[in-house]
Amino acid sequence: MSAQIGGLHHVTAIAGEAQRNFDFYTKTLGLRLVKKTVNFDDPATYHLYYGDGLGNPGTLLTFFPWKGAPQGRKGTGETEATALAVPAGSLEFWRERLQPFLTSSEITERFGERVLAFADPDGMALEIVETSIEDDARTGWTESEVPSEYAIRGLHAVTLALRDWESTVRCLTGILGFEEIGTEGGRRRFVTQPGVPGNVVDLVERPDLPPSQTLVGSVHHVAFRLPDDAVQADWQHKLLDARLGVTEVREREYFRSIYFHEPGRVLFELATDAPGFATDETQDALGTALKLPPWLEARRASIEIALPALDTNLERN
Ligand code: ZN
Repeated sequence: MSAQIGGLHHVTAIAGEAQRNFDFYTKTLGLRLVKKTVNFDDPATYHLYYGDGLGNPGTLLTFFPWKGAPQGRKGTGETEATALAVPAGSLEFWRERLQPFLTSSEITERFGERVLAFADPDGMALEIVETSIEDDARTGWTESEVPSEYAIRGLHAVTLALRDWESTVRCLTGILGFEEIGTEGGRRRFVTQPGVPGNVVDLVERPDLPPSQTLVGSVHHVAFRLPDDAVQADWQHKLLDARLGVTEVREREYFRSIYFHEPGRVLFELATDAPGFATDETQDALGTALKLPPWLEARRASIEIALPALDTNLERN
């Protein structure tokens, strides 16, 4: 019996221009840039990680900025929306702050929670959801322009759009250990480890939509938490037994990861909580310097020249 999957670890998406992505996530949303590195599989591209003050698992949104790349096509087999948790009573603040980005000015209710929908400057669909302090005691990043009482606590949920949800339901409940907790308005809700914030996966069926194309504004993959390498090895075996085509363990410096496609074609990752982001720079300095893994350090000069300009000084005009 494998240890339980512990909720969302991070969500990774494709952005357009790096500077615009940085400005939106740090200034408008008030997240902290906790790591500026490159895509380890494509070092001419940044990999930007945003989260709470420490970059704790469950608070992380990460991006590959591809300036000039085409817009993704929304469709099935992808994450349709990524929901972020905020304290109860803060949606009016966020509706005001996010005015230019709202996709609906209406605050809606879903499974008893108030929801506000918006999109980032690249068209990535996001939601802000109010959660109670009893359910979610995370504080978020409290040193941004956003007053700390409204700060984004971290990830809350992902909504997966599927052509047909049955095989994904069997995978979530039969293999990955999720529990189905309700249906509302054509949406089925699943949770993993109870008591862990950011443990929600919603499924919707979109039989009228084409298969998605993962480009600018698209979520690339959804990562879930595992405590350590031993549990990850157990899950790797379990996924192989289930013929889910899992990858080898990949060293991501701040965590270690395995990847597989769930049957609805959404790319899932299982990432370790350790070692975290304060391994190659101090907690105070997180995100301030370009960090490269040891095997790319010898190529630093050429990598830095190839990367686009990105000013991460929050004080600039
Ligand atoms: Zn990832």
